[in-house]
Amino acid sequence: MSPRPGRSEGGSHRSAQHEGYSMTHDPNCIFCKIIAGQIPSKKVYEDEDILAFHDIHPWAPVHILLIPKLHIASMAGLQPEHAALLGKMSLLAPRLMKELGVSNGFRTVINTGPDGGQEVYHLHMHAMGGPRPWLKG
Ligand code: 5GP
Ligand code: ZN
Repeated sequence: MSPRPGRSEGGSHRSAQHEGYSMTHDPNCIFCKIIAGQIPSKKVYEDEDILAFHDIHPWAPVHILLIPKLHIASMAGLQPEHAALLGKMSLLAPRLMKELGVSNGFRTVINTGPDGGQEVYHLHMHAMGGPRPWLKG
């Protein structure tokens, strides 16, 4: 997956908080730092496009985050060229939940923007499963 034409590392990172922007890497973004190995995480899966790791504050017995390696601030910043990436994340979620022993269903959530409750402005899909009760939801 390549960044949008005309956007490159450096120079424009202040714009990255704006939902319409995507870039290779935002040096101020906590999930970009996880991708770069600058902040540790409990990794579940990694390939050239996607990283999956355990949420630091799980709501459910299994709670992982799937993120594109490309810095896309939110779902509101998705472009047509990101369709395959999102498809890949959607296919990966059930596979990883199964590998983590989740066998009775799971919930996927993508929070978008302030009213969507988004806290980290690097697109991520929550996948939550395991026996209830859960902390939230
Ligand atoms: P949001 O509210 O943006 O949809 O979800 C952000 C999620 O990222 C939260 O569930 C939060 O617990 C998780 N999170 C925030 N910072 C870190 C971190 O440094 N490491 C990990 N593993 N998860 C984080
Ligand atoms: Zn990022």
